[in-house]
Amino acid sequence: MGLLRRIRTAGRVAEPAPPRPDEQVPQKARQLAGSAQVRCVDAGSCNGCEIEIAAAFNPVYDAERYGARLVASPRHADVALVTGPVTRNMAEPLRRTVAAMGEPRLVVAVGDCAIDCGEFAGGHGVEGAVADVVPVDLTVPGCPPEPAAIVAALRRVTGR
Ligand code: SF4
Repeated sequence: MGLLRRIRTAGRVAEPAPPRPDEQVPQKARQLAGSAQVRCVDAGSCNGCEIEIAAAFNPVYDAERYGARLVASPRHADVALVTGPVTRNMAEPLRRTVAAMGEPRLVVAVGDCAIDCGEFAGGHGVEGAVADVVPVDLTVPGCPPEPAAIVAALRRVTGR
């Protein structure tokens, strides 16, 4: 009963919605009709970016209110959020994951490592940045990027 009372009295915990990002919605994203099923792929990150992605979907940043939803399978996904430099062991799984997604599909490189290998550039186990392995549609810079930046990128995809 205590929990139910807290739920009833807590009210709204999400941050007020920031203004819609004014960058253009990518052409492919226009076909997604305002919602995006999102599959996360850790291609070799330190997990810092994953923590921020998790925060982007928590009740405070609440990416779901803009039409983004996490899914467990690439076959259900329109958008791949890819983090980390792509390690040699993850290059082929990443290619297969993106190939398993239906069209139209978008790949978002999240974090400096995903964009240009960041801290891990030149590492012996690193195959390259995400764009070296699969086509990238959007990037979210930062080490790690803030949840608000991840939400802004998802809003560019959903157009909401
Ligand atoms: S960008 Fe920073 S937080 Fe993200 S995987 Fe690389 S080192 Fe970790």
